[in-house]
Amino acid sequence: MFIINNYLNYIIWAYICKPFLFEISMENKLKIAIQKSGRLSEDSLDLLKSCGIKINTGLNKLKTTAENFPLEIFFLRDDDIPKYVADGVADIGIVGENVLLENSNQVKLIKKTGFGKCRLSIAIPRDKTYKTNKSLNGLKIATTYPIILKKYLKANRIKADIHEISGSVEIAPSIGLADAICDLVSSGSTLLSNGLKEVEVVLKSEAVIIQNKSLSKEKEQLIEQLIFRIDSLQGAKNNKYILLNAPNNKLKSICNLLPGMKSPTILPLAKEGWSSIHSVIKEDDFWEIIMKLKNAGAQGILVVPIEKMII
Ligand code: ATP
Ligand code: ZN
Repeated sequence: MFIINNYLNYIIWAYICKPFLFEISMENKLKIAIQKSGRLSEDSLDLLKSCGIKINTGLNKLKTTAENFPLEIFFLRDDDIPKYVADGVADIGIVGENVLLENSNQVKLIKKTGFGKCRLSIAIPRDKTYKTNKSLNGLKIATTYPIILKKYLKANRIKADIHEISGSVEIAPSIGLADAICDLVSSGSTLLSNGLKEVEVVLKSEAVIIQNKSLSKEKEQLIEQLIFRIDSLQGAKNNKYILLNAPNNKLKSICNLLPGMKSPTILPLAKEGWSSIHSVIKEDDFWEIIMKLKNAGAQGILVVPIEKMII
């Protein structure tokens, strides 16, 4: 396992990826489509930048080229991305899973990004009573996601009328256009300010990376490099590096609490009879393990973020 700290980001990436490197003609750049302006734009660009890719972005640019990776970036409307990827205009794209499932294009989902999280939910006016999803029978539901909603209704044997509209879904019940809505929700504040309550979650979504189904071997290898970098970032985010001191007679019980990646590192301290233990712990287990370590006799515990982690 390597753990990389802040310094020499670009150089280190080149070094780590050495086994994957090969000659790439400039014509054979990987083409990625990301949202031009919207909720996924900044996070999509940040994801590429945190992979050590230098990107020049300018106002109203529709296309740009990375400086240090064979990558061309297209800035598009999110709804168009699955089709462009399916048609081969772009090789890969970043788009909400909700948009992907609503479009019937033939593309491959290759990675969940962890950002752009939201729910596609059914909501009804706050003053209406609601017991189970059978309460939706006979209602008129306004949505911009007719395909996903239809599948949900069919799977749950609900007979409701789908009313497809192109925007401002949340006002549909108050203007008498529909009895309920099916729309994207994250905090729920938009529903609240429109007098609605969320009653069913139809889909949990996040931004995903999609890929054209038939790419050259060269492009597949470039995607592999990119995914390798993303995996190491995601691994780093989900783990913490931990350093602590312990008396030698407590080492065994403390090490049992720290499985680490393979096993913890133990280094002798200048103080006789003491050692320093280094390991990696999962973010989710963090508080539970810290308390157990303290109780087992650990002292001077330091926990530091990991920038990149290659297993
Ligand atoms: P475009 O102009 O590119 O068509 P848009 O208005 O359709 O943009 P955005 O509102 O920017 O799209 O949302 C893009 C994606 O962000 C959504 O498809 C969804 O996956 C995700 N998202 C996360 N949270 C929310 C939310 N609260 N509301 C809507 N989308 C959300
Ligand atoms: Zn859109």
